[in-house]
Amino acid sequence: MNTPPTWDLLVLGQSVLTLEPGVAPIEKGAVAIADGKIVEIGLVSDLLEKAPTCEVLDAGNCLVMPGLVNTHSHLAMSLLRGLADDLPLKTWLEEHIWPAEGQHMDRETVALGTQLAAAEQLLGGITTTADMYFFADAVCEVLAEAGMRGVIAESLIDASTPRCATPEEMTAKQRELCEGWQNHPLITPSIAAHAPYTVCAANLIKEAELAEEFGVPLQIHLSETRWEVETSIEQKGASPVAYLEGLGFLSEQVVAAHCVHLDRRDIEILAENRVGVSHNPVSNLKLASGVAPVPEMLEAGVRLGLGTDGAASNNTLDLLRDLQIAALLHKSVSGDPTTLPAATVLSAATNGGAEILGLGDRVGVLKPGMEADIACFALDKAHTTPIYDPWSHMVFAARAADTRHVIVRGKVVVRDRQLTTMDLDEIRAKSTKVAARISG
Ligand SMILES: [Zn+2]
Repeated sequence: MNTPPTWDLLVLGQSVLTLEPGVAPIEKGAVAIADGKIVEIGLVSDLLEKAPTCEVLDAGNCLVMPGLVNTHSHLAMSLLRGLADDLPLKTWLEEHIWPAEGQHMDRETVALGTQLAAAEQLLGGITTTADMYFFADAVCEVLAEAGMRGVIAESLIDASTPRCATPEEMTAKQRELCEGWQNHPLITPSIAAHAPYTVCAANLIKEAELAEEFGVPLQIHLSETRWEVETSIEQKGASPVAYLEGLGFLSEQVVAAHCVHLDRRDIEILAENRVGVSHNPVSNLKLASGVAPVPEMLEAGVRLGLGTDGAASNNTLDLLRDLQIAALLHKSVSGDPTTLPAATVLSAATNGGAEILGLGDRVGVLKPGMEADIACFALDKAHTTPIYDPWSHMVFAARAADTRHVIVRGKVVVRDRQLTTMDLDEIRAKSTKVAARISG
């Protein structure tokens, strides 16, 4: 007689969408998990027969798929959600966001804002998030405790931040973060330079060297606005993308957020250097930055992920909304409804994002050997009935609130729409108090 396998958890779904290329959805499918990893995927009946006494998670009315990956965010800015809307970028930043950050963002508020953002993201089916902000060690602590996967950076800028007076202090914090958090099961430390127009060449080169030394992702905002590109050409004689290439900054480790204003050569440079691009359509639309040439980038082989950006410029961290808007936007702009099909968008929001964050061998598809980062989306709502095509369903019909269960590295962090690792009422109460202080 065979001994039953020692699995920790068996997720029993209505349908399992592995997102492995060429693999069809598995109806009445199940996923077996042991030691934080996926060990087997098959039919509910077969896996239950193999391990009849294994603990189960009932996702019987759900689509079970890889957790979503948010490739660009500033988590603690969730506390600034809706603080100043409908304003030009310069006024918004200089008169509202930067003063509020300067006055109110300290270690404690960054930790609180990060908790709020982690809660929102987990409840919306996101299992991995990138972050570039301040007090990055506090961000890492919050995410590790929340059981969420993160690629986290202390952001460098040639100015003071709420934490550091000089760029030298910032690089010291970056080095400390990389040394302190390497080999953590959920947290990948990262390096971030704010943008090519706010960080000098010497510091950009230093940041690229640090990222190379530690072998970690290198985040940056790139070619977000027309002003940025025009100023770069005027002052440096090159587009921001060409300028960074000239400095030797670009590599497979780079995660470039936005990339809205690119010419044909810029797109070639991004593809040649295997740069990962985070497309953030809601933020770009809200700040009227423009429309990133996503179909052209994909055509050229640029690696793509999707991001929300911070909640001050989105205003939610509902990545499914970014999926939907990405698909709709590029169809409309190209005048071709076959542009950016649902499967492409869903892939960018899962395995594509994981790839550009350097996690492609660990998460982003469901298959044995991968870490068990899984989201279960309810299919029993009016707006999710019926279902013909799970890819289009997730892009065009599903919403963050459809998230029923979420598992990160084998641990159930959302069960029946409730967080298991955080007290949302307490986080909300504290956030409301901080907001009262911010609005003065
Ligand atoms: Zn950003």
